[in-house]
Amino acid sequence: MAVTGGEASWSRLMEGNGRFLSGAARASRESLSNIPTLLKAQAPHAAVIACSDSRVSPEIIFDAALGEIFTIRTAGQVLDRAALGSLEYAVAHLKVELVVVLGHTNCGMLAATRAPRGLETNLKWMADGIAKCLEADGSAAEDAAANVGHIAGQCKTLAQSLGFSTPVVGAIYELSSGAVGLL
Ligand SMILES: [Zn+2]
Repeated sequence: MAVTGGEASWSRLMEGNGRFLSGAARASRESLSNIPTLLKAQAPHAAVIACSDSRVSPEIIFDAALGEIFTIRTAGQVLDRAALGSLEYAVAHLKVELVVVLGHTNCGMLAATRAPRGLETNLKWMADGIAKCLEADGSAAEDAAANVGHIAGQCKTLAQSLGFSTPVVGAIYELSSGAVGLL
């Protein structure tokens, strides 16, 4: 998946991931000085749809200060109506330059989708939704890519239905290294 449109936004995210990886993160310092400006309005450059997994915090991974990215997080990045409504707000009202669907390695929600026995009601609903986009014999990496691709498709459809051509990209966060890569 290449970045077509939204290149500047993607570059900012990748530069932030570079700072995170090199131990040169600066977001918390910048956030403090941004507080007075942000009191008036927010203008995030990207919407990031990520997993709720505590090891996958987009603001930390992308070294993004307050006001820079609009995040929507659910386990497995599953989009229910509340998540889609939040994305509508980001696209139609905040007019973000880019939507990023961020999957990750070792996703517990994807593992649960492969072994759904004993899942509670709402988790079962999420797993059933994810299962529909997975190949029968997909590997964990293939499952992560398929799920991100499916959700990216949902995001594109939503943006188009609102009359926007906001670019959407899929990416994977590597838990083992801290690096983000485009799918
Ligand atoms: Zn996950």
